[in-house]
Amino acid sequence: MQIDILTLHPDLLQSPFNCSIVNRAKEKGLVQINLHNLHDFSPNKWRKADDYPFGGGAGMVMMIEPIDKCLTELKKQRGYDELIYLSPDGELFDQKLANELSLKRNLCFICGHYKGVDERVRQHLITREISIGDYVLTGGELAAAVVVDSIVRLIPGAISDETSALTDSFQDGLVSPPVYTRPAEYNGWKVPDILLSGHRQKIDEWRHEQSLERTKQRRPELFNQNNQE
Ligand code: SAM
Repeated sequence: MQIDILTLHPDLLQSPFNCSIVNRAKEKGLVQINLHNLHDFSPNKWRKADDYPFGGGAGMVMMIEPIDKCLTELKKQRGYDELIYLSPDGELFDQKLANELSLKRNLCFICGHYKGVDERVRQHLITREISIGDYVLTGGELAAAVVVDSIVRLIPGAISDETSALTDSFQDGLVSPPVYTRPAEYNGWKVPDILLSGHRQKIDEWRHEQSLERTKQRRPELFNQNNQE
């Protein structure tokens, strides 16, 4: 998979992609993540990529030209399955969408800043808008990091035991069951006996029951949605 990210602040994205599973996926050649600095595509010598909003008002707006120029260059190299603008009013990101995007070959993300991008970018240059939640971040970089991380860990081979990602919360409409590790007793707090029994089938049943119970308690709307006749 090729992932291109257009940003005014590539530095913000170095560390999230240079650690843990995402870094290993890069090293294994499962994904290539390319950061593109929009200042490099500025039409002026000061490398400006933003300007005052027409009509006045607070805050700057990201100009269309650097974004369009950067995309034009990239589109000569590959066609995109999705061209995504990260935006607080976009489609709410969830595990279903992460699964869908993890099957694509070429993805492009545009990170906004200031008041956001010139509306014409949204009207003419993208295919999709994604929000990571009903709150406002300073820029789209952290949102891109969240979305890319959740996609990359689903690419077959990214996690050594592939069943691990498939048993995470939300994959089957349920949240995960509790997990424990050594020691079996700490400060008198014991691990449930069933997990020490070695009885595979009973352990699986217990985990499923725990998932159901937790989903019912913590995410009743999810539980009702997935347990309707
Ligand atoms: N004026 C915009 C509004 O009220 O919708 C907010 C702009 S925000 C300060 C700057 C940029 O951060 C946005 O253009 C977007 O790319 C990104 N951003 C902020 N919150 C986000 C969220 N919840 N999900 C995805 N991207 C977000």
